[in-house]
Amino acid sequence: MKNLVTGLRTEEYEKNFAELHPPFTPGAAITEANRCLYCYDSPCMKACPTHIDISTFIKKISTKNLLGSARTIFESNWVPLTCAKACPVAVLCEGACVFNDKGEKPIEIGRLQRFAIDNYFSQNMLPLFHKASPNGKSVGIIGSGPAGLACGAELSLLGFDVTIYESNKIPGGLNTWGIAPYKLRREDSLKEVELVKSFGVKIETGVLVGTTVTIDDLLKKHSALFLGVGLGESPQLSVQGEELEGVIGALEFIEKVKSEKWHEVPVGKRVAVIGAGNTSIDAATEAKRLGAEEVYIIYRRSDVEMSAYRFEYDLAKKDGIVFYFLTSPKQVVGNSFVEGLECLKMKLEEPDSRGRRKPVSIPGSEFIIPVDMVIKAIGQDTKSAFLNSIPGLTLDNEGCVIVNTESYQTNNPKIFAGGDCINGGKEVVNAAYDGKRAAHGINKFLFPMSEGEN
Ligand code: SF4
Repeated sequence: MKNLVTGLRTEEYEKNFAELHPPFTPGAAITEANRCLYCYDSPCMKACPTHIDISTFIKKISTKNLLGSARTIFESNWVPLTCAKACPVAVLCEGACVFNDKGEKPIEIGRLQRFAIDNYFSQNMLPLFHKASPNGKSVGIIGSGPAGLACGAELSLLGFDVTIYESNKIPGGLNTWGIAPYKLRREDSLKEVELVKSFGVKIETGVLVGTTVTIDDLLKKHSALFLGVGLGESPQLSVQGEELEGVIGALEFIEKVKSEKWHEVPVGKRVAVIGAGNTSIDAATEAKRLGAEEVYIIYRRSDVEMSAYRFEYDLAKKDGIVFYFLTSPKQVVGNSFVEGLECLKMKLEEPDSRGRRKPVSIPGSEFIIPVDMVIKAIGQDTKSAFLNSIPGLTLDNEGCVIVNTESYQTNNPKIFAGGDCINGGKEVVNAAYDGKRAAHGINKFLFPMSEGEN
């Protein structure tokens, strides 16, 4: 990169990456819990993809039964600390809270959940869960992200011998490596990994399935497999200059930031982020917090069509990120290093039959934004090459694995799948739900008489 940020002082990095939402004090948590109406037909619980019994866990906080509260949460979700900090609560549980209808502030469900789970981890993970006797079957899980961890935890408590295979040296997948540090620190994700390991789940890191070990090896070794492999890299922009030094994928950039060696992360003084989803906002605000002087988000549609949540958009604006709407990259300019991004102005056509307004370029509208770094954040591809190599799997047009929506079984009866590799990229909480449900699908497959509906 030509114009690198020279680096901030350690205390500046700490300040910039400090938590957005600090924890409740015990007194504040109880006061907030007492505000809850403990609704009979809790809309908050329905809005949570893992259907945590929210009114019950909040009630237990109000009566200072914090371990009981944590237990209620874990019964539905094995990665609740990550979810408490990284879930878009404003559009899920808190968005559904009845206080919104009264024009009042919704209950801070995310912070209360965090309060109960922080307390649980501070007490050295007291054994709260019943583990069944070994049932003689083993399951291999590929990927230690939220889906894999949830599946592993549930299976282990059901008596299975579980091994998770993780390509990274440090487990946790997206929770460890893909969430902005001001929302979730790596150590939080690793607490949840340790909890799952405490149930007897083995995690083999640095194992690249397909290279270090084959799917056939794993199918021979285990009674069933679960795929929680997430998504792959950002797709190519397919514009000239994409190979220049200073062009990087958003996930690669965010992963470097998550190393928490902030002074070692190369960042340009002027940064363009292509795309306007939640990952784009994370990458843009992280570049800014690393010391970039100017950060631009380039998006070919308008703010109405962008997929980033409104609160993420507001956060980016608060961080001083500049948005170029109706703008599309034409080429990255430079010799060996990025020196600028040539863009075209766009306009939106009339809505088509699906209501989508196609962006079209305005001839002769080219202009150059001088930048030293370009971050590609235009979504992620599935790991279709890997998935296509697995016998019996069927992928849809988007490259997602097709599963039975009840059992999470793929067209190969011994293989189950969940999380981003089946949905193309949703929230951590959706992956946690999939993993738990898939564990019961596997249990039913291997022990057909064992369980009713879970
Ligand atoms: Fe409490 Fe709001 Fe849920 Fe009702 S909807 S139980 S008030 S958090």
